[in-house]
Amino acid sequence: MLQLVALFILCACANSCPTIFTKSQWGGRAPTCQSSMTTPVLYVIIHHTAGASCSTKSACITQVKNVQNYHMKSNGWCDIGYSFLVGEDGNIYEGRGWATVGAHAPNYNSNSIGINVIGTFTSRNPNTAAQNAVKNLIKCGVSKGYIKANYILKGHRNVTPTECPGNTFYNTIKTWPKFKA
Ligand SMILES: [Zn+2]
Repeated sequence: MLQLVALFILCACANSCPTIFTKSQWGGRAPTCQSSMTTPVLYVIIHHTAGASCSTKSACITQVKNVQNYHMKSNGWCDIGYSFLVGEDGNIYEGRGWATVGAHAPNYNSNSIGINVIGTFTSRNPNTAAQNAVKNLIKCGVSKGYIKANYILKGHRNVTPTECPGNTFYNTIKTWPKFKA
């Protein structure tokens, strides 16, 4: 009986998280170096790529690979800088993941999850599928103990002089729970 109860609890936990395509599933390259991050983290930082948008899985994977190539080949980083990327196909793509220090927001990298929405959101919002994927990913991180329950949500521009995550999307995340400039 106890085992049955435990099984139900496990199932409920698993169901609270959306599907995340792992780096091997999207064909990403292995990191050349990495540092583990102490979790749960206090901050969630939202970005956009400021590049092309994508609305199919194959198009989004192309964009994620482009970002990884840019970060590794041009910037010389160990890996793609973000913890996760989200497309307007509604899918979530693993970057450095939950427990590895990122390269997306100086001074916040070792205490944050960086979520990038693929596209340019200066004059329009990401579609509902992408916005819901970001919200579900944050909830998942809290439920799995990677993000503090009392986390603080910020846009990249709140921690670095940048236009990221775009004016329109920034005005939207300002209305999301736990946002603090
Ligand atoms: Zn950014």
